[in-house]
Amino acid sequence: MVKIKIKDLCFGYASTQILENVSIDIHKSSFVSIVGPNGAGKSTMLKCLNKILTPDSGEIHIDGRNLRHLKRMEVARNLAYVPQSSNRIFPTTVFETVLMGRRPHLGWFINENDKEKVWQVLDELGIEDLALSSFDELSGGQQQKILIARALVQDTGIILLDEPTSNLDIWHQLDVMEIVKKLVNNRNVTALMAVHDLNLASKYSDQILMMKDGQIVSAGKPASVLTSENIANVYGVEAHVHTHAETLYVMPLKQLVMSIDA
Ligand code: ADP
Repeated sequence: MVKIKIKDLCFGYASTQILENVSIDIHKSSFVSIVGPNGAGKSTMLKCLNKILTPDSGEIHIDGRNLRHLKRMEVARNLAYVPQSSNRIFPTTVFETVLMGRRPHLGWFINENDKEKVWQVLDELGIEDLALSSFDELSGGQQQKILIARALVQDTGIILLDEPTSNLDIWHQLDVMEIVKKLVNNRNVTALMAVHDLNLASKYSDQILMMKDGQIVSAGKPASVLTSENIANVYGVEAHVHTHAETLYVMPLKQLVMSIDA
């Protein structure tokens, strides 16, 4: 079943065209990674999906409903967005930060059910002991987990994550990927994640979208997308790709071009 349908999506900042005719179907309960060099348009695409940015043309359908016709609160009841952690500051406690995720569901008041939901998610992620800590004083790994908790209490069928592992050590990288995998497997959530690490993308994704210059140049199962040829064309890097125990590994070997900046 198609959860997100993107058709001929175009978007530009001022005079610069970024996304060019992006079309893709994302299936329900799938873990989809978006890979591609810096500036390829990964974040821009996630922001169009979350209606932070308005496309110039093209269509996005969520569960068959045109995103253009959904109000902001309706969007927030369908899609949760985990931004890059580095640009977020919340001068509040962890509990209050996570509670902010309940906003799309709140009536006039915060009720016990909303607070219960926050405790439940903090408990699920094993971070209930951080509830009264100040968000700003936590480590990058803890902050990332709290931003994910905030998205989880939003109770949406779709979660969008923008490079959630990029500032984390390998333990915390796996921690984040495992949380997302469980969401997909146990709660039927559809996850769309921009990620730089091709090995993490290959290990966890059902589908990978590889972007370059605002276009999807390859999409499909990790083994069909993460080929030496695609990596050379998209990143300008020679890479050795091999499979062991059904897991695909990518080892970058050398740069093939002087620059890949557009
Ligand atoms: P990625 O997430 O793949 O690194 P982005 O979507 O962040 O790529 O950026 C795509 C292109 O859009 C880049 O060339 C970037 O410089 C440009 N861009 C991103 N944000 C803005 C902005 N607010 N104003 C103008 N250009 C932007």
